Amino acid sequence: MITKSLRWIAQQVNGELTGSDAMVTKVTTDTRELQKGDLYIALKGERFNGHDFVQTAEKEGACAIIASEPVETSLSVIQVADTKLALGLLGKAVKDCVNPKTIAITGSSGKTTVKEMCAAILSRRGAVLATKGNFNNDIGVPLTLLELKQEHEYAVLELGANHLGEIAYTTDLVKPDVATIVNAAASHLEGFGSLFGVARAKSEIFKGLTQHGVAIVNADSQFAPFWLGKLKQRKVKQFSPTEYNATADFYAKDISLSLDGCAEFLLCTPDGEIDIRLALPGQHNIGNAMLAAALTMEVGATLEDIQDGLANMSQVKGRLNVKQIAPHIRLLDDSYNANVASVNAAIDLLSSFSGRRILVLGDMAELGQKSRYYHEQVGLYAKEKGIDNLMTIGVLSQTASAVFGEAGIHHTRTEDLLQSLEATLAAEFRDITLLVKGSRSARMEDVAAAIEASS
Ligand code: ATP
Ligand code: MG
Repeated sequence: MITKSLRWIAQQVNGELTGSDAMVTKVTTDTRELQKGDLYIALKGERFNGHDFVQTAEKEGACAIIASEPVETSLSVIQVADTKLALGLLGKAVKDCVNPKTIAITGSSGKTTVKEMCAAILSRRGAVLATKGNFNNDIGVPLTLLELKQEHEYAVLELGANHLGEIAYTTDLVKPDVATIVNAAASHLEGFGSLFGVARAKSEIFKGLTQHGVAIVNADSQFAPFWLGKLKQRKVKQFSPTEYNATADFYAKDISLSLDGCAEFLLCTPDGEIDIRLALPGQHNIGNAMLAAALTMEVGATLEDIQDGLANMSQVKGRLNVKQIAPHIRLLDDSYNANVASVNAAIDLLSSFSGRRILVLGDMAELGQKSRYYHEQVGLYAKEKGIDNLMTIGVLSQTASAVFGEAGIHHTRTEDLLQSLEATLAAEFRDITLLVKGSRSARMEDVAAAIEASS
């Protein structure tokens, strides 16, 4: 964080400082990560109350505490009404001081990927602060803003939503210069009721745009007209994730997929065209790249920055990592997470390889009442795309293997799945490509690791 006094901080969070003033360079909400001199904010969660750890914070060397309950400590204390709101206000105040050019990204899938693409492009121009991992909720976003230092010229933030109003809150802290919704698909339906509910919740992101801020809209989304309707007073650019869409400002031409599944294409923008070679595989990453180009050009990236950044970025762990695990076996490790759109995107990539194509699918979580229907859709899509085998594990995904037909096999135990997979691999002489995918809770990374270890 930029160095600030406790007095300044108390003012920003509408708090009352008792005790002596001191300078703060870092804030933490977790005593396990606390370093000497940190300001400790006592948050209250469902399962814990940070106020119970004030003494630990003092022992670990905290310089002061922000609290909303009476606390016993010899440290300086800033008393506030609500510590979570105080965290937000402080994040916002720090961002206002540093004033980096800011991009905010939400969507059902692709947020982290697009964020990493933007960071790779912008780091060619100056220092970038990007959300670490998945720190995208109402606590992670302000904590990310608190990491801003004076040298940061750009901030790229991922905003996630589990409930209505969450993005309205975080986008107001972030105040982006450019904001986007990658897509709206069936994910977190339990929190939003319907797909339209998802699209509406995500549209909150545009409310936080600065006065001259720009919205980037996915021209191919079924919700594009809805989002555009909300953006009548705003500057808008559109991107198309597909090959050509005449309404889009950013689109791809002459797409070809190389042997490793990575795309090459001509990026078309209002400022000209340039050849792109993506470092990440999968058709869906063409759309993500189109979007990253649109977002970063709004804050000053050139076509060359985009070309260079996209060609040289490193893979995002667990997101469609292509690994050659044996001379004739290729593993597509997409175990990080899953919803309908991302499974379909990964199936598209799987179907582009020759030889035997096997999908190993764990459950897609949080899909609400239509869970079975969505799993069925995925099974049918895999069949339609010519996938050779569908092996499932988990309660919900057996619906997918059931509609897949004879080559759809369900397993209840990981050991059985691995055994049956081993037998299938041993009986095949052609090249084999395996796609491993499932929601976070399905822990498919364990399956991917076991496959990798055994080959
Ligand atoms: P989370 O909500 O878990 O933070 P996210 O939105 O950050 O997810 P990523 O982590 O980038 O998304 O990717 C998650 C999964 O979605 C990966 O499996 C990836 O292959 C797939 N994916 C990435 N971009 C898209 C896209 N534009 N459309 C569909 N699927 C995508
Ligand atoms: Mg993410």
